Amino acid sequence: MSAQPGPGATLSSSDPTAAEAFDMVIVGAGFAGLYMLHKARQLGLRARVFEAGDGVGGTWYWNRYPGARCDIESMEYSYQFSDELQQQWHWTERFAPQPEILKYANHVADRFDLRRDIRFGTRVVAASYDESAARWTVRTERGEVATGQFVIMATGCLSSTNMPPFQGLGSFKGATYHTGEWPHEPVDFTGQRVGVIGTGSSAIQSIPIIAQQAKSLVVFQRTANYSVPAHNAALDPAYETRIKAEYAAFRARNSLMPAGFGSNYPRNEVSVFSATPEERRQAFDARWQRGGLGFNGAFNDLMIDKAANEFAVQYVHERIREVVKDPAVAALLSPKQVLGCKRICVDTGYYETFNQPHVKLVDISQGGIEAITPAGVDAAGQSFEFDSIVFATGFDAMTGTLMKMDIRGRNGLTLREAWSAGPRTYLGLNVAGFPNLFTISGPGSPSVLTNMIVSIEQHVNWIADCVAWLRAQGRRSIEARPQAQDEWVGHVNGVANGTLYPTCNSWYLGANVPGKTRVFMPLLGFPPYVERCNEVVAKGYEGFAVGA
Ligand code: FAD
Ligand code: NAP
Repeated sequence: MSAQPGPGATLSSSDPTAAEAFDMVIVGAGFAGLYMLHKARQLGLRARVFEAGDGVGGTWYWNRYPGARCDIESMEYSYQFSDELQQQWHWTERFAPQPEILKYANHVADRFDLRRDIRFGTRVVAASYDESAARWTVRTERGEVATGQFVIMATGCLSSTNMPPFQGLGSFKGATYHTGEWPHEPVDFTGQRVGVIGTGSSAIQSIPIIAQQAKSLVVFQRTANYSVPAHNAALDPAYETRIKAEYAAFRARNSLMPAGFGSNYPRNEVSVFSATPEERRQAFDARWQRGGLGFNGAFNDLMIDKAANEFAVQYVHERIREVVKDPAVAALLSPKQVLGCKRICVDTGYYETFNQPHVKLVDISQGGIEAITPAGVDAAGQSFEFDSIVFATGFDAMTGTLMKMDIRGRNGLTLREAWSAGPRTYLGLNVAGFPNLFTISGPGSPSVLTNMIVSIEQHVNWIADCVAWLRAQGRRSIEARPQAQDEWVGHVNGVANGTLYPTCNSWYLGANVPGKTRVFMPLLGFPPYVERCNEVVAKGYEGFAVGA
């Protein structure tokens, strides 16, 4: 084990295992890590980012599957910390496609000269806290060692792919792909027999495009999902001009929305029960025709009352029946669970795809995938032969990436032990027993239930302010108090339990990963969360223990 230098010291050595000392070590160079690095530099901190990928962009670096795009409008899914940046950057479409978002991330990295402090192709495998020095030691897969007073886990909520342990996995002789780890070179399915496993957002975006290329396409569906049309189009120049003329005010209005976006199309604050059948129809139609995620804001009780939700369910079922010609296929594509308890999908031509004669939907809700075979897939009592299989099976969300690392806090407590019954945090920012380690968009924060760039910026700003405060006070460490953490976990669960969100097997609950503890991980409601974070600061970091 290498020696640990004190703060400020720099060891440059030909020994790759010699520790280099930083004020802050940041893990991940997606939108969270990039902005954290920028803020750290503004504070005058010496920071190092480790990134497993060979480039910046995180989600948008890894998820290159056909059709990948944002489902938050591009004028909203972007940073607001630099007015020059938001004024000068031009999005071409209402919903930005993955290559354009990746280009944007690269532009940010270049514009703010971030790359020189990022080590690419370097996966962090361990981080341990030395209480006497109040410093973390971070180790990478390559054997590099870095120390830092602060460690920031900017490792993403959807950054560990979920590959279910299918029987025979690996025996398939053709090509396999996971949507979350798509190759960098384009994949051409022309003339191929393709199988897609999964019908979540990634599948729903990619299936229409794969169907355009493939000779035949079989989609294996365990649970049907609700999908609302995107009605994507070129970005309206008049809209862009209007927003840019008052970007700061637009951002401020969005930050007051429950999910940090959508002030242009806020929730209709009316109960579905107080509307006449015509008014109901009009409200749903308006949202369906507008397209995108705002659909379940048609009424204010859709996510709290199952009977209210049922109106939305029936509306979507009708739309599916209108599009899908075969009534049996339409019925199969019609979801049974509460609308919105799994993340709503946004598509371009998804339901229409199932009218094509070469596309087949296979219901695996009863028996699942029986096996992956050398020739293809066994499911629903049949054998299917493929040239390629696409696994659109999602992520070990919110905790998977953190749990892969050997993170050891005070007294050697591991994060795996601390979270053995599900993730526990205070504000989604810190874990009791792990001083000076912050999670950006961690479990217990609004994160995945919001426009994530908005949540990321709020977290980075909070962390930067906290670090500046500690330094100004001459304090070395900060750590959640167990009681504050317990109360926070109770609060997050209490909020979720007042809604319909926990009513189905969603990844929000960890239900998609076999054996994962079921806990509702994100917190609903961005504005009250921000208020609470600010209040904690105003009360001298209430709920935190601050080390001398
Ligand atoms: P990420 O972008 O996931 O970046 C984390 C980085 O950390 C990755 O580059 C990863 O390689 C790196 N990393 C992880 N572990 C290690 C390690 N041990 N060592 C070194 N590096 C490591 N959100 C929205 O708000 N709107 C959307 O429309 C939307 N669409 C999405 C579409 C897809 C296909 C997916 C998967 C997610 C989508 N999201 C969306 C969520 C998206 O993840 C966030 O918006 C945002 O990009 C997250 O940024 P991040 O920096 O927090 O994490
Ligand atoms: P997902 O929503 O978790 O969907 C995974 C799919 O795979 C589900 O249909 C799931 O079925 C199926 N599946 C998982 N394990 C299976 C198994 N063992 N056998 C058969 N089927 C199995 O994952 P995702 O589509 O990658 O999306 C994850 C999240 O990323 C989204 O919810 C969203 O937040 C984000 N995302 C956003 C966009 C966007 O539009 N901007 C696009 C992609 C992703 P069950 O439902 O039965 O579990």
